[in-house]
Amino acid sequence: MELTERQTRIVEIVKNSSPITGEQIATKLDLTRATLRPDLTILTMAGVLEARPRVGYFYKENHEPSALLVRLRQLRVGDFKSIPAAIRPNISNYDAIVTMFTQNVGSLIVVSEEHELLGMISRKDLLKAALGKTDLQQVPVGVIMTRMPNIIMTMSDEPVLEAAKKLMQHQIDTLPVVETFIDEHGDERYEVVGRFTKTNVTKILVQIGTLGQ
Ligand code: ADP
Repeated sequence: MELTERQTRIVEIVKNSSPITGEQIATKLDLTRATLRPDLTILTMAGVLEARPRVGYFYKENHEPSALLVRLRQLRVGDFKSIPAAIRPNISNYDAIVTMFTQNVGSLIVVSEEHELLGMISRKDLLKAALGKTDLQQVPVGVIMTRMPNIIMTMSDEPVLEAAKKLMQHQIDTLPVVETFIDEHGDERYEVVGRFTKTNVTKILVQIGTLGQ
């Protein structure tokens, strides 16, 4: 498990002075207990720390990840992806906005006739165009989209956690799910077969969390 810098410091503190309460850890780090709460919850759920009520936190030597965590790491994008909300590059920005409303999405994947990935267009791209002098009815999305090779993608066999990390690191809402194919020049290209979004990640969390309720 990759720990954040703060989580690493918490683990060091607990290792050196357990049992230690959340309040005491917070004081050592000069932070509030509320700020530390998510880190302590995650470290406890991951099995790195053990929380004993009214005693404090202990470091667990040779901790095993919980069964839930093991299963979570096994989830693959392909089992949760949505159908792609895609448009062609020659449609106008105006029509892209209409498509966002009718398809109820915040970003659209721009593809060729053969479903090859060309780019992405998001709400902010269209808002930016609307603020500028762009004629939304005339200018096609192909002009203002973020284009290949700058598109962050995922594949059906990628772990959900890796895809979720990409969404966070790049501060984007949607990853096109692609399959690779080789064109007539021997170059690798990408066919869009779905999309994986922050909403998919939220749904997974809710489904797992409410199982058996
Ligand atoms: P919003 O505009 O609603 O905040 P995003 O955060 O997804 O939506 O998009 C932010 C910017 O990143 C936009 O310029 C968009 O074109 C671009 N973008 C969206 N998805 C991707 C992606 N998968 N790879 C690279 N760039 C992307």
